[in-house]
Amino acid sequence: ENPRIPVGSPIPIGDGDGDVNRFSDRDGDGDGDENHKVRIRLYTEEVIAKIAEGAKEDVDLAVKAARQAFDHGSWPRMPACERGKIMNKFADLIDENLEELAALETIDTGKVFSFETNVDIPSISKEVRYFAGAADKIHGRTLKLSTESQGYTLLEPIGVVGHIIPWNFPSAMFTLKCSPALAAGCTMVVKPAEQAPLSPLYLAHLAKLAGIPNGVINVVPGFGAVAGAAVASHMDIDCVSFTGSTEVGRLIMHAAAASNLKPVSLELGGKSPLVIFDDANIDQAADLALFGSIANKGEICVCSSRVFVQEGIYNEVVKKVVEKAKTWVVGDPFNPSTTQGPQVDKKQYERVLSYIDHGKREGASLIFGGKPCGEKGYYIEPTIFVNVTDDMLIAKDEIFGPVMALMKFKTVEEVITRANATPYGLAAGIVTNDLNIANRVSRSIRAGVIWINCYHSFDWGCPIGGYKMSGFGVDHGIEALGKYLQTKSVVMPIYNSPW
Ligand code: ADP
Repeated sequence: ENPRIPVGSPIPIGDGDGDVNRFSDRDGDGDGDENHKVRIRLYTEEVIAKIAEGAKEDVDLAVKAARQAFDHGSWPRMPACERGKIMNKFADLIDENLEELAALETIDTGKVFSFETNVDIPSISKEVRYFAGAADKIHGRTLKLSTESQGYTLLEPIGVVGHIIPWNFPSAMFTLKCSPALAAGCTMVVKPAEQAPLSPLYLAHLAKLAGIPNGVINVVPGFGAVAGAAVASHMDIDCVSFTGSTEVGRLIMHAAAASNLKPVSLELGGKSPLVIFDDANIDQAADLALFGSIANKGEICVCSSRVFVQEGIYNEVVKKVVEKAKTWVVGDPFNPSTTQGPQVDKKQYERVLSYIDHGKREGASLIFGGKPCGEKGYYIEPTIFVNVTDDMLIAKDEIFGPVMALMKFKTVEEVITRANATPYGLAAGIVTNDLNIANRVSRSIRAGVIWINCYHSFDWGCPIGGYKMSGFGVDHGIEALGKYLQTKSVVMPIYNSPW
């Protein structure tokens, strides 16, 4: 509905020489492949847009553009502070177009509009600015090697980066991946998720308006098994940064190994514990349990899908969580009073409902929700299970839906063991006022981020990455630059030095 939003037409790909290529016309009928479309369904189950579906040939074109821009273009060669200046302009345009971006996110994914306008989208320009400021602070080291030689290291951009991103935070994922890569001087191909390409495409359009040269950011929408796989196995892509499921992460690592051995970084699934100790404030604990498990309809890789409550306050916490869940408003994500929108698509919706069914059949007690709601759209009630045991599927698998599993524990030692008894290690939360317990448990849980008396507390300056099968490599924070840089050592002899 917004004429400024470039949907419904083939998506331009910058080819690095100032003009614009269109998607390859594989069937030769001159229409830019009208019959190769991804259909995007809104939360009302209506088709909202048709997007050109990128194939391997389109990824090839995009990589060619990125390669040209890296090997011969201005972006990696300009003074780093100039890159920072252009990135800041990009951040300004994100701020100026906040409402459009927020609306696109809501239309495309069912995320709550008020959250998008107040929290999600405002954070992404901050991420871009953070890395804009970092661009001219990328330095190597000097090396005093011996009396006969000395050297220095150069940190160089790794080259053409492939970013494969998921649908749950399409804009944030786009900026999270692109910002450090841009600061490092890389060029890139972005493969957004097939469920949510609209805001990444709009962001690429803003990047172009900001003055990021053609060929530096190339977005190829399309399906994972085709366009994503073409990125992962491309011989001319120098590294891949991926966020998504553990299953697909494994495929990407295989493809990278089988092609040009490109390094990969993987931010994958989780089954994160939130541990509530006896001394916790009941009200705060219940808020964190709900927010941790069900925020963004549970479609967050770090969500606290296992909530452990110490036995002394277990009953009280359960009661409070249910009381608060009753105030949760599921409905139209554009309505300002809504706290939970619909699941992203039918596949996820059915998957979540089947896990709920499993929970019931395995003997967990469903004490709240558990059903679809509304007549249209992929809405699921906030769902709370108690009497969940560690061996149940709902305590082991990543559900990616608004489902909370509450479990009781007795001692600190016990809960540390149980919290770690998962192949994942993405995040964890601790609710206590006892500083020593907080510190001890923080050190003992093998996960990339530990939130004490808070949850989902993200910051562009705070690195986050997985342990174990949640992946490796970090996003956010200065550490994220490392994925997009290569260290070169330069060594030279030194003569007649007494030192
Ligand atoms: P989710 O489970 O969150 O939907 P996926 O891991 O399936 O996440 O998808 C995350 C991203 O990975 C999406 O952009 C998707 O298109 C892409 N993808 C899916 N399958 C593959 C694949 N075989 N190779 C490369 N990318 C893929």
